[in-house]
Amino acid sequence: MSDALKTFDVASIRQQFPILARTLDGNPLVYLDNAATTQKPQAVIDALVDFYTQCNSNVHRGAHQLSDEATRRYEQSRATVAKFIHASAVEEVIWTSGTTEGINIVAKGMAQRLQACDEVMVTQMEHHANLVTWQQACKMSGAILKVVPIDEQGNLDLAAFEQLLSSRTRMLALPHVSNALGTINPIKMLTAKVKAVAPQALVLIDGAQGVAHGRVDVQDIGADFYVFSGHKLFGPTGIGVLWGRRQVLEDWPVWLTGGEMIATVTYEDATWGKLPNRLEAGTPNIAGAIGLAAAIDWFSQLDMDAVAGHEQALLQRALELAQQVPGMRVVGNAENKIGILSFVIEGAHPADIGFLLDRQGIAIRTGDHCAQPLMARLHVPGTARASFSIYNTLDEVEALFKGLHKASMMLA
Ligand SMILES: *Cc1c(COP(=O)(O)O)cnc(C)c1O
Repeated sequence: MSDALKTFDVASIRQQFPILARTLDGNPLVYLDNAATTQKPQAVIDALVDFYTQCNSNVHRGAHQLSDEATRRYEQSRATVAKFIHASAVEEVIWTSGTTEGINIVAKGMAQRLQACDEVMVTQMEHHANLVTWQQACKMSGAILKVVPIDEQGNLDLAAFEQLLSSRTRMLALPHVSNALGTINPIKMLTAKVKAVAPQALVLIDGAQGVAHGRVDVQDIGADFYVFSGHKLFGPTGIGVLWGRRQVLEDWPVWLTGGEMIATVTYEDATWGKLPNRLEAGTPNIAGAIGLAAAIDWFSQLDMDAVAGHEQALLQRALELAQQVPGMRVVGNAENKIGILSFVIEGAHPADIGFLLDRQGIAIRTGDHCAQPLMARLHVPGTARASFSIYNTLDEVEALFKGLHKASMMLA
């Protein structure tokens, strides 16, 4: 065991997540659906309650003390995010409702700029949010969608990537980490290659899974956009972040129009305000932003090497135990992956596996994981997926496999 792992105290982390004390039909909850959403520490729950009990008010309207306080906490939260992802300026952090909205802001804006014969690249491992949205942008603009293939293990095919990349490439949009397979993509290297071949091209990283599993430094990655959701980072639902490079965001086509985002308005016309407000129309999710900042403050106390080490230990144990389940096949064995175990068991439908585990208090996800074309590519109808987070234990990994043995016997 590494030193980092020794200092990582899972028991004390678990105590900070009240929901983990729950039982379901007398079984302790074993929550292994973290790639869908993570649970929330008490610090986040407290931040939400504190906002609504102490300073609920609208922001930026400066009419009274409560509003000033709400505005201060809300803008402080933006600064917390900027620091967490190492943005070079606070205005580069745009609040969204989540990853999906962030991708839409970029793709809808891009659709206005793309021309016929321009090329947009995505990968075979996209979540629908980053596939369908770019399909639509290409349909609207006449641009061509190029899909970078993966190998059987779930690694991006880097040779194919280089072949598909051309001076006509205008956009690369890909996940930092695959939600279905756990693959960690070499986003910094791919971004550099795009910029070398097509200097005008922009790069968007779908960080929905990447952001909760280690350090993210947007300046170091070198991409133009990095988007993520609060709820997969121990924060509330309904809040997310679009980070964009300032020069790119400054004249990005506006998304929603309305209050907060304007500079001047007449009956005939309107002018837009400055970043970040120009991309944030209407009353924002104030409590959500404050809750997300609380989640980041909480998460940032942890040693990121220890976080990664802990998740790898869980994954390695799961991979060992997987070899002992008759007919079990792990889907997604990339060289570099996070703690996601997608699998199929011969003769058992993933939905039935999920149901039988659920009867034992074990929560996993089954189905296509919002990646239907990826399931088709890997010749599976769907998978069962256990996804690990910082509060999961080796005992829970054992419980999963005990549960799987039980389920297998019932399905045989
Ligand atoms: C969850 C997820 C999304 C979508 O996030 P929302 O919070 O539903 O908007 C997009 N991409 C990946 C890789 C995801 O895991």
